[in-house]
Amino acid sequence: MADNAATSENPELIVVDDHADGVKCDGGGGPLGHPVVWYSFDQKDYVECGYCDRLFVRESSKGRFSAE
Ligand SMILES: [Zn+2]
Repeated sequence: MADNAATSENPELIVVDDHADGVKCDGGGGPLGHPVVWYSFDQKDYVECGYCDRLFVRESSKGRFSAE
């Protein structure tokens, strides 16, 4: 589902399940890859990866983040 062809101009938006407590990110491999890290949503509906700037957004909130 993730598009590895995403450019570096815009952070990649990753939609996750509403019920997820947190997300795991490893940068998706390739040049942006980084050690696996876990992030907790911790009351928020999104979390940004400090390594690769990918933005993880809960399903019900993606409309606020997507430009589409
Ligand atoms: Zn990351």
